[in-house]
Amino acid sequence: MRPEESGCLAPHLGSPFAGYRHIDWFGPACWATADIRVRRFTCSCQRVSYEFGQAGGCYAIQRTIKAADGLIIERTALMRLSEADRLWADIFSGAAR
Ligand SMILES: [Zn+2]
Repeated sequence: MRPEESGCLAPHLGSPFAGYRHIDWFGPACWATADIRVRRFTCSCQRVSYEFGQAGGCYAIQRTIKAADGLIIERTALMRLSEADRLWADIFSGAAR
């Protein structure tokens, strides 16, 4: 469902492509000490949502999964803006998750 149909304000992602690239996800402690600002995000009404975070001059993407026993929060390694932009686009297109 498109966000404008559901009343949501952030984008919803479709299913990934068959054979999509698997992103390396790490526990949140990998950059827990950094001050993170969320620059972009997908809708949190979905079972899996994504945030694009900035920590100083570095960037990373956080994935939140609503599991039966709570939230699972994972993050990518910190990367340069160009890499993070490319990865964010791949997540949106379904090429990587
Ligand atoms: Zn939504």
